[in-house]
Amino acid sequence: MSADVLVVGAGPTGLALAAHLAAFDVSVMIVDRAADRAHESRALAIQPRTLEVLAGLRDGAGPGPDRSVSQRLVSAGNRMARLQVHAGGRVTTVPMFDLAMFDTAYPYLLVLSQAQTERILAEHLAAVGVEVRRQVTLTDLTQAPDGVECALRGPDGRVETAHARYVVGCDGAQSTVRRHAGIEFAGSTYPQVFALADLEADGLERGTAHAYLSAGGPLFFFPLERPATWRLLVMLPRSTSDTPGLDALQALTDGYTGGTVRLRDPVWMTTFRLHLRAATAYRSGRLFLAGDAAHIHSPAGAQGMNTGIQDATNLAWKLAAVLRGGPAELLDTYEAERAPVGRWVMRLSDRAFTAATSTSAPVRFARTRVVPLLLPLASRLRRARSTVLRATSQLDIRYRHSPLSTEGPGAPRRGPRAGDRLPEPPGTAMPGWQLLWPSDAPAPEHGTAQRLTVHRRPGKAILLVRPDGHIGYRSGPEGVDGLNAYIGRWFAG
Ligand SMILES: Cc1cc2nc3c(=O)[nH]c(=O)nc-3n(C[C@H](O)[C@H](O)[C@H](O)COP(=O)(O)OP(=O)(O)OC[C@H]3O[C@@H](n4cnc5c(N)ncnc54)[C@H](O)[C@@H]3O)c2cc1C
Repeated sequence: MSADVLVVGAGPTGLALAAHLAAFDVSVMIVDRAADRAHESRALAIQPRTLEVLAGLRDGAGPGPDRSVSQRLVSAGNRMARLQVHAGGRVTTVPMFDLAMFDTAYPYLLVLSQAQTERILAEHLAAVGVEVRRQVTLTDLTQAPDGVECALRGPDGRVETAHARYVVGCDGAQSTVRRHAGIEFAGSTYPQVFALADLEADGLERGTAHAYLSAGGPLFFFPLERPATWRLLVMLPRSTSDTPGLDALQALTDGYTGGTVRLRDPVWMTTFRLHLRAATAYRSGRLFLAGDAAHIHSPAGAQGMNTGIQDATNLAWKLAAVLRGGPAELLDTYEAERAPVGRWVMRLSDRAFTAATSTSAPVRFARTRVVPLLLPLASRLRRARSTVLRATSQLDIRYRHSPLSTEGPGAPRRGPRAGDRLPEPPGTAMPGWQLLWPSDAPAPEHGTAQRLTVHRRPGKAILLVRPDGHIGYRSGPEGVDGLNAYIGRWFAG
């Protein structure tokens, strides 16, 4: 058994990676030790940038937009338009994603259960001919100069050896790949315990998220719709040691809502603790880590699954290019670009988590007294809200300091720079690089070789856009030599 890439783990990260690799015609094998995909809701928010990066994944014969993974996600989910904050005896409605989303086709936060997200990704993968091999567990691996030998234990307990040129651990927080790579997962566990329940709740206004703030911590209701109308998330008091049943959750909820919300018909209830941990490296030789195998943090900010899917998007085209004979250094840029993003997401979620949960006197005071006074101003604080929305949407993630980002001579002062995401890329057809060329300049000499598609457009700037939609090279018309040097360095030989 052999494949160019073995993807270990068929959570959202592994599924997205396998789908991107298949789009680049890479031979890929994906295994998961679980008998079936997850049916719990878990991550329920899909950020605008995630919908953008999945838009290029299409299957079936027709070219219609409904054939993209993103369009299917959008059809299955619902858009979260606002948040109602209940604090200090007031209810304040804060609009969400109503501004700062001027440059994306997906200007909203999409609420969809992770089970549905995984279903749609897995269905796409099956449609392009890649089956997830289930009940197959990676138990061991050995790196050789030209590949990796992997021991895979199947459903009948038999162990077979698979050969792969590269292995990507998308195998979650307890990653086997990470352990075999000898990479540390440094960090800590938060002391707080949370309860989560997908259920029905009478007495809540539909179609909006609700946050109840108290001195003891927050309680949230998110509008999930399927498999239940609401997702309840609440921090448990320190004195609670057992997993609360519905009655105990009702009692807790009454403490926040004054008895105005009635809980019933739970379809999933669990308690969990949260961690803040990052892999100290994203790569060891032919082994890579992506998603929760590389970083875990609190769900505050709804970034985890989204970050994993974008790790996958970043890595897939690089693996594909190197497998086609491209320069091996391309693979080093994965960690150079994604590890800083992972650290940034961890800081963001840690700050949001601390603000929401800390029981220290100043933070408690701010949460229960200051926030209720400031919130009515929130819809007028456009600048502050824009900053928060842009950050959480992941639209502004950029790789300006990457070795892959080059500003050539005459690069315009304005506009997105090398390393930035190019808003509205010229074509969403995966895969390949796109060259944006000034329409009044003589035709470029680089043909369509190396999957480089040329688009002519008004203006003076030359832009070379990577397969993941980030600008690799940017210059004025005088930057053609620099462009050639860039192509010589980074394209398949
Ligand atoms: C309660 C909860 C709420 C959350 N809310 C949000 C949210 O709102 N927004 C957000 O973005 N994120 C959220 N998250 C986080 C999100 O669920 C994770 O970030 C996401 O599932 C990570 O995806 P992954 O594919 O990297 O890993 P996982 O989903 O953990 O998938 C790993 C897969 O690897 C398989 N595997 C493991 N070891 C092996 C092995 N040795 N061999 C074969 N297969 C193996 C496992 O069976 C599993 O299917 C939440 C998480 C929880 C628990």
